[in-house]
Amino acid sequence: MDADVIVIGSGAGGLAAALPLAQAGERVIVVEQHNVPGGLCHSFRANGYRFSPGIHYVGQIGEGGSMREIYEGLGVADDLTFFEMNPDGYEHIQIGLQFMDIPSGKQATIERLKQRFPADAGGIEDYFFLVDKICSQLSIVPETRSFLEFLTVPFRTREMGRYGLFSLKRTLDDRMSDPLLKAFLSIQCGDHGLPPSRTPFALHAAVTGHYIEGGYYPKGGGRAIPRAFVRALRKNKGQIFLSTPVEKILTEKNKKGRQAIGVRLGDGTEIRAKNIISNASPRMTYEQLIGREFLSKKLLRQLDQFTYTTAALVLYIATDLDLAGMNLDSGNYWYTPFQDPEEYYRQAQSPNVVDADEAPGVFVGISSMKDPGSFRNGHHTIEAVSFISYDVFKQWQHTTYNNRPEDYNALKRKLTASMLKTIEHIIPGISDHLVYCDLSTPLTNDHYVKSTNGSCYGTEKTWRQFGPLSFKNRSEIKNLYLCGASTTAHGLSGATSSGMGVASSLLSCRPSELLKNTGQTLKVIPR
Ligand SMILES: Cc1cc2nc3c(=O)[nH]c(=O)nc-3n(C[C@H](O)[C@H](O)[C@H](O)COP(=O)(O)OP(=O)(O)OC[C@H]3O[C@@H](n4cnc5c(N)ncnc54)[C@H](O)[C@@H]3O)c2cc1C
Repeated sequence: MDADVIVIGSGAGGLAAALPLAQAGERVIVVEQHNVPGGLCHSFRANGYRFSPGIHYVGQIGEGGSMREIYEGLGVADDLTFFEMNPDGYEHIQIGLQFMDIPSGKQATIERLKQRFPADAGGIEDYFFLVDKICSQLSIVPETRSFLEFLTVPFRTREMGRYGLFSLKRTLDDRMSDPLLKAFLSIQCGDHGLPPSRTPFALHAAVTGHYIEGGYYPKGGGRAIPRAFVRALRKNKGQIFLSTPVEKILTEKNKKGRQAIGVRLGDGTEIRAKNIISNASPRMTYEQLIGREFLSKKLLRQLDQFTYTTAALVLYIATDLDLAGMNLDSGNYWYTPFQDPEEYYRQAQSPNVVDADEAPGVFVGISSMKDPGSFRNGHHTIEAVSFISYDVFKQWQHTTYNNRPEDYNALKRKLTASMLKTIEHIIPGISDHLVYCDLSTPLTNDHYVKSTNGSCYGTEKTWRQFGPLSFKNRSEIKNLYLCGASTTAHGLSGATSSGMGVASSLLSCRPSELLKNTGQTLKVIPR
């Protein structure tokens, strides 16, 4: 046996599984196909500017926050520093000509919303009461181990059971009347990619609850997080191999059924291990690495029927505009002209989006405001995201990166122009002040992190694909486990929890028991 555990992929989920296993004395090998670790949490440099595609803010980093506890308890906090984002508006929302800033803190948020929408004050209180309840109840299930604890879950998760599967739209409609208020409260649908009518309220509550105490940004960009994990992994004798794609998961059949026994790498090398954890998407794991012929009918049906979240365009910009002088800050900026969020999602998924003069909406993060270290030569760096359907790019899915045909590049230029026009609503004059500008498409995502259909957040967390109905961490193939955004939950926090969930299963403990008293304290720089 070459290792106890092989982890395929070094995304947030893969590293959160690998580290505690290595700390527990398991011989861990992580194999990553990209030349940097982190998956969507990686950062890259272009013309000297640093960009991070998949981390724009992280919640639960303040005192007592769950992400802070994880980083401290796993012993990576000494290698991480977070900047607090603008506490008076970590979300700046613009819907048409209506503006709203969401401040850090539940009570502050409630008060600000009540002040703006007094007629809906009761509904606002009730809504945040449910967000609170559901968030605390969601954390009960992963920690449940004993039979008695399982038996009492329904009693301890009452609000979750009663309201969690209602749609966000229904939850809002039942409590509030002002469409603008509902639109503001739906803006964070951008953090899971579903329109309110298709969003289980529990999902939206989890996202809202994650950020409610404010947003934070890692010093050094997204890559600071995987770097800290890799350093700790190596300290614990774990190994990571970059630019090392896994081509096959090796399996064999015995009396107990099929079991995973190792992996074959792109260069033909075989590595054997007792357990294999795949951080690659379920489609990659099961269809490419295992093979459909080895899967049960039930799993094949799941693979064929499961839908993936929307893809996105990400525009990477460096500008010589004085953004601080324009009163822009470290908070995120969201813009859409549509008061009805359903309309935004309809437009974004429509094939006609390629002919539109403007994108139907945009998320803008000024990373150089969040982390001043990213401010370079007097230039600010910006990442702007607009959702788009993968279908728009499907015709080029078999072309190769850096060698795509001219019509693909022409479409990129057109979409860049329409996104810039939309960003003008937030940063007037930006189009005339570009010192760097490049667009990534869903195909870029597939190339660098092997996402499925360029999806931003893995599988859609709709009613049929959420919680116990999602892809399981423990697969039907013995000794093969899955983690990452398409399993337990998505986002940095969800993927991290999924990895810890797998590690705790292998070590027969609760996820919270992976966290030790390391004496480390996460550095947080207040704004
Ligand atoms: C535009 C955008 C913005 C986002 N913004 C935020 C944000 O602000 N905050 C937040 O919390 N989340 C955000 N997210 C989501 C978050 O980044 C992801 O949900 C999370 O990082 C996914 O982690 P994961 O564990 O699923 O792994 P992934 O990041 O999907 O990584 C999987 C890894 O597996 C590797 N791999 C795949 N196949 C193989 C193979 N065959 N062999 C070897 N390696 C393989 C890949 O190269 C990759 O490194 C954003 C996502 C996007 C797209």
